[in-house]
Amino acid sequence: MTQESTSTPEVRDVIIIGSGPAGYTAAVYAARANLRPVVFAGSVTAGGALMNTTEVENFPGFKDGILGPELMENMQAQAERFGAEVRYEDVVSVDLDGDVKTVTTDDDETFAARSIVLANGSAYKELGIADEKRLSGRGVSWCATCDGFFFRNQHVLVVGGGDSAMEEATFLTRFVDKVTVVHRRDELRASKIMAERAMKNEKISFAWNSEVVAIHGDEKVSGATLRDTVTGEEREIDATGIFVAIGHNPRTEILAGQVDLDAEGYITVAHPTTATNIPGVFACGDAVDHIYRQAITAAGTGCAAALDAERYLAELD
Ligand code: FAD
Repeated sequence: MTQESTSTPEVRDVIIIGSGPAGYTAAVYAARANLRPVVFAGSVTAGGALMNTTEVENFPGFKDGILGPELMENMQAQAERFGAEVRYEDVVSVDLDGDVKTVTTDDDETFAARSIVLANGSAYKELGIADEKRLSGRGVSWCATCDGFFFRNQHVLVVGGGDSAMEEATFLTRFVDKVTVVHRRDELRASKIMAERAMKNEKISFAWNSEVVAIHGDEKVSGATLRDTVTGEEREIDATGIFVAIGHNPRTEILAGQVDLDAEGYITVAHPTTATNIPGVFACGDAVDHIYRQAITAAGTGCAAALDAERYLAELD
């Protein structure tokens, strides 16, 4: 039996939930402050969203770019070098009340700490069709800011009809020759201003009442099959990129009722700090961020969360 599975687990200084850029950056800072953080990395998806991508060209410090998984391995190794303990377990429940907070893992072990950093990230909603995962990073993308640059002078599809789809489509016109927005209905969900901006853009056209039912390509995306949602008719369309912009789900289910979340499930913090409504609990990265959703912004708030936790602990001592 491990020490943690007894009824009185060792009380640590900091537990970090999440192993993306936010969690590992928090771990680097907390470890260098001698807080001996434990990072719960997850049992399946350790390393976070960048494990699903190829080249990352916009993380400062890598002038020739770096592969997403390599960047995450480096971050983990850097945190471990300073004494962070990384555990490949899922946190399945938390009790954040009081001076000592506890987390329970899928192995039914309980860990305790005086402060918690929540860095759970958020999952991009997927289309859920064959070949979407296989061609992720090979033409299928969830982030125009990250990948738009790779599609210069090409034709890409943007799937979705909300504000983020319009924003992605409009942003992509800086690089590409043509964007086709594929939307299931015959009108957009996006706000009037965003919709008008996209509809006025000469590079953007719309495939109304359409859904993507297949993605084509061996090594890279070469096109898609669209189905008319009214007639059921199918047609093929050539495109080298498919940007999926149908929303995100913050991974905060286990936090409901424990810490304040907004209507969409994102953790609310007292900006510009990372403090949640619970003393000693700090939150960072894409689990908080509706707007920027970048590795560097997640890392930045991860740093802030560790510094906030460090100050909180210093005041207790
Ligand atoms: P995440 O990276 O999502 O990490 C959170 C981690 O915590 C996950 O591993 C998750 O499994 C784990 N976790 C969550 N809950 C628990 C729990 N209960 N127990 C244990 N573990 C848990 N950004 C860029 O800046 N440049 C790019 O080029 C770029 N490309 C991208 C390509 C793709 C395909 C995707 C999907 C995203 C890309 N992004 C890019 C966005 C970037 O990956 C995210 O903004 C960033 O990873 C968010 O970091 P995070 O630490 O908040 O969360």
